Order: sequence, then structure tokens, then C-alpha cells
Amino acid sequence: MTDLSPPPLRNDCFALPAGVNWTPVDEALALLRDRLTPVTAAEDVAIGDALGRILAQNVVALRSNPPQANSAVDGYGFAGAVPEGAHVLPLMQGRAAAGVPYAGAVPAGTALRVLTGAALPKGVDTVILEEDVNANDGQIAFRGPLKQGANARKAGEDVVAGDVALTAGRVLTPADLALLSATGVARVHVRKPLRVAVISTGDELVDPGQPAGEGQIFDANRPMLLSMVRRFGAETIDMGRVADDRAALRAALDSAAAQADVILTSGGASAGDEDHVSALLTEAGAMQEWRIAVKPGRPLALGMWQGRPVFGLPGNPVAAMVCTLVFARPAVALLAGAGWNEPQGFLLPAAFEKRKKPGRREYLRGRIRDGKVEAFKSEGSGRISGLSWAEGLIEIEDGARQIQPGDPVRFIPFTSYGL
Ligand code: AMP
Ligand code: MG
Repeated sequence: MTDLSPPPLRNDCFALPAGVNWTPVDEALALLRDRLTPVTAAEDVAIGDALGRILAQNVVALRSNPPQANSAVDGYGFAGAVPEGAHVLPLMQGRAAAGVPYAGAVPAGTALRVLTGAALPKGVDTVILEEDVNANDGQIAFRGPLKQGANARKAGEDVVAGDVALTAGRVLTPADLALLSATGVARVHVRKPLRVAVISTGDELVDPGQPAGEGQIFDANRPMLLSMVRRFGAETIDMGRVADDRAALRAALDSAAAQADVILTSGGASAGDEDHVSALLTEAGAMQEWRIAVKPGRPLALGMWQGRPVFGLPGNPVAAMVCTLVFARPAVALLAGAGWNEPQGFLLPAAFEKRKKPGRREYLRGRIRDGKVEAFKSEGSGRISGLSWAEGLIEIEDGARQIQPGDPVRFIPFTSYGL
């Protein structure tokens, strides 16, 4: 059923409300959340291949965990509870071990040797730890009190068969694979990976390793964006570099649209002479210039190319990375079927001072040392070394702020963005 591809996005899905000059970050994000829908079909995979994949539907536990009551410790089982004081119980022959149940029933007032994980035999609901017992000559001696059910796990106390164990949109973690296995689920229905094409644009770009002439710079964005997208869990298609040439860019976009579900470009997204990404999207009639009140950030060119959403990121590597984390990442997650998720941030004392005017949300490159948030020494948007130095972003709200050392600031680790 779900192997059918979902319907394509509408050409006007990135339209912004009219008359707004600078869209606040939260409004821009709300727009993405409301407009974008999953674009990937689904397939069945074995759970061994399911790590990082996105559930296409809820998964129901086929078996309870634990499937039957069992012992949590090595010890002696009997019918509880036991009052305070000294007790002696006759010991039955035999034992119950994990995977090797005791066939008979344990009569009231007698005990049986039980090992961790053993299914509790009939007549046993309570286990005393072997360390708390003296055993000899077919008897055990111990001291109460002991509550009924002590050291025993009830059937289904974790998950009951028929319950929803995991919900659609879940990005499967190692622990999820344990939960699925324990509840008897061997295969899952997951989304096919989102395919994301990455294109760098600019006459000045050459690849590292190539000779770079005067006025040329190495393409820093493409390796960064390709690896970010991979960390977001998507498949990448490296479309290489394209010169500031409309026909070449058109051909690259055509090729990307034929192979990928989403296209990320960097550079050429503003409204200048050599800004061919925005020019082509405009020509296709599906271009939206997103002027977002964010620093660092130049306008984003959002649009559709042959039915594929295009994120035209700024060329500046710092802005490209921040815009990818803040805007492209949640969009990619939605398109991939994982639903909307917000990165977890933490309020921690600042180790820096900063004065900020109202009007724009700001993201600084930051890291935590000794429980305090440090900011990179320069806010210069060309400082790639600061991206590499940083371990997360410091998010400073849209309004004015006067931050003194020790004041709480919101730090969002790169890991919260999936990096
Ligand atoms: P643009 O957005 O095309 O106007 O580019 C803005 C700035 O980012 C310019 O200084 C570009 O040279 C630089 N830039 C654009 N693309 C890249 C890239 N792939 N790697 C490094 N810098 C870039
Ligand atoms: Mg350019």
C-alpha cells in the first residue's frame, strides 16, 4: 500500500505572506512545517538494516516484554509475601533457568532454585536473592520481610503485545532495534531514504587538490553540505560545481531533479547579476526569496524545479551551514517522513559578553568548556575556522539583549541537529 509515492509538493509551497519585509525565524519555520509533506515511498526491511531509517507506520508489539513472569536475580523462588523474622523453607528438587523452565508446580510453603531470566514456575511469584540465603540439606533459611513480587518481573510489565511499540516517523535508534527484537518484530515498514542533490555555484570555485589561480577559492561548501545531509540520514548525490552560467546551471538542476527528491544549492541565491539560482527559479515561476530576520544569513532562494523543492543557500560557508542547520535540516526531516523536530538546546551561563540589537535572531558559533558557553572570537561570516572550532550554535532571541558573563544563553549542540 505505502509503496506508492506520496503526491508531489505544490509549486507555491514556499509562498510567504505578502507585505512582510523580514520574516522572523519562527514564522519561516512554521511555514516549512505547514507546507512540506513527506515525498518518499516506503519499503520493508529487516531490522538489521533498519538503523537510522524512518518508520512509515506504527509498529505494534507482536509479543509482550517480558513474555512471561521471570526472575530478576539468581536466588530462590516461592509464593510471597514473607513477614519479618527468620524463615526456613524446604527446597524442591530441580531448578528453573533461563530458557529451561521448571516443568512442575511449586507447592505453597516450599522453595525452588531459580536463576536470572528463568520463567517463574506455577506457585512462584517472589524471589529471594541467593546472597541473602543459607542453603543446605534441602532447606533454605533467610530473614524477612520480603514483599510479594520481590525480584520478579511481571509478564508485559514493559510492553504488552498489541501495544504500539514505536510510532510512524520515528528515526530508528539502536535501542529501538532492541525493542523491536524483544517484541518479536523482525521486519519494519520504513521510508525509502530521501535523496538530496548538492550543487555548488560560482565562477571562483575550484576543487581542493586542483591548482587555484588568482581570484579562485576552493569549494568549501560542497563537502560540508554533502556530509551534513548524510548525517541527517539522507542519501546524497554530488552534482559537483557549476559556473555562473545560466545554461550550465539549468542543465545541473535538470539532472539533479531527475535523480533526487530535494536539491540544495549554495551561492547565487541573492538578486545580483551573477545570482543564477534565484534567476532560474524565478524563470520557472516558483521562486520565493526568503528574507529571514537571521544573522548570519543572506536571502534564501526557495523554489521548485521540475517538482523538486530547491533550497538555494547563501554561498558564504558560515551562512550556508547555519541556514542548513536551522532551515534545511527540519525541512529535510519532514520531506523524509520523520515529522517536525526541534533541536534540543540548553540554557547555560555565558563565558562571553555581547550586546545585540533587536530585529534579528542571531546564531553564534559556540562550545561548552567548564560548564560555560564560549563564543568564537570573531563573528566574521567568512571565518570557516570558527565553524570547525565550534561544537554547536548559540541562539540569541530576536529581541535586544545585553549578555554579561554568567548570564544564561541557549546553546544547541551540533549533535542536537544530528551532526
Ligand atoms: P554568493 O552567495 O554566490 O554571492 O557567494 C557569497 C560568498 O560566498 C562569496 O564570497 C563566494 O565566493 C563565497 N562562496 C560561494 N560558494 C562557495 C563555496 N562553495 N565554498 C566557499 N565559498 C563560497
Ligand atoms: Mg556566487
